[in-house]
Amino acid sequence: MWILKGNCISIVGYNRGIIYNLFDNSYYFIPKTFAKMFQKSAVFNKKLQSEDSLNFFKDNKLIIEISKNQIRQFPQVTPEYINKNDFEHVVIEICNQNIETIDLIIKKISNFKIKSIEFIFSDNVELDFALTIINKINLELNIAKVITLKYDLFLRISEKINLNTIDYVKTYSCSEENKLNLQTSKYSYLDANYWKMNETKLFFNFDFFAEAISYHVKFNQMIFIDKNGNIKQNPLGNSVCNYMKLNKNFLTNNIFTELWYVSKEKCHVCKNCEFRYMCVDARIPLKINDNEYYFKEECTYNPYICKWQGEEGYVPVEECGTYGKETGFVPDKEKIEKLNQEIWKE
Ligand code: SF4
Repeated sequence: MWILKGNCISIVGYNRGIIYNLFDNSYYFIPKTFAKMFQKSAVFNKKLQSEDSLNFFKDNKLIIEISKNQIRQFPQVTPEYINKNDFEHVVIEICNQNIETIDLIIKKISNFKIKSIEFIFSDNVELDFALTIINKINLELNIAKVITLKYDLFLRISEKINLNTIDYVKTYSCSEENKLNLQTSKYSYLDANYWKMNETKLFFNFDFFAEAISYHVKFNQMIFIDKNGNIKQNPLGNSVCNYMKLNKNFLTNNIFTELWYVSKEKCHVCKNCEFRYMCVDARIPLKINDNEYYFKEECTYNPYICKWQGEEGYVPVEECGTYGKETGFVPDKEKIEKLNQEIWKE
């Protein structure tokens, strides 16, 4: 008999399935019937086996042949997200505040367990001030550090100090030519539409997948501290309190933590998408009720027809159903079927 390898996870989308290979972080599209079959059991059902299907799974090293009595020796991996921190991600806006305020914020948040911290430098930050902040965080923060800043400022800082201790650097406002140099594992470029989801933002590994199954990876345990020291759930959210009032009670306060419990399974359209566990999506989920959220802006992927914007046959999601304030998105199954017949007729 053939079984799906333990590190391969089958996910069902609206129109097709996908296998996430958590061993080498690769993924493979498969027909929905196969995805459903593997969700029920790792065993490759004989009724669905054909030479072509077996070859596809064998060639991509997704299945192995075992005897019936070996099945217990090949268990499926169940990725589990273990929450070890008070905050996964703390984002601090830097805008020439006085340095004492930054000191106090750093002191305050040092009372919490934090996985990573990001400093977003606004356009008008002076070089000396930025250097002071970076030297300070290098000295005082022993956690993963991210900085986001204008490309010019990044260049000037790089001439003065080594940015090796910064784990990730995001820049904006640079020429097309320089953008290319910035697409590395440590640097990236944010364009004006950076918050829009697109194909380049698909990413996963074991830990990411484990978190994404239950949480929205962008907002899970995230807080944003704006230039005035106000704490928000996200950059566009309302202020919950001033940083001075931050204490452990906030970790269980619904107003503060609501987005921490939004998963892609609760988000209209995304819950039907095969990419939902590899998607770094910065759009802010809007609440319909405790279990349902939607987004104001559409993603550039339409999971009902498996097409990205710009691909032949693409139509926006809004043409595949109806949006309502209270219902969110309701797919029009007949219309979607017709569209798919047209697009995928071969
Ligand atoms: S539809 Fe949702 S899950 Fe799918 S790629 Fe877009 S943002 Fe990600």
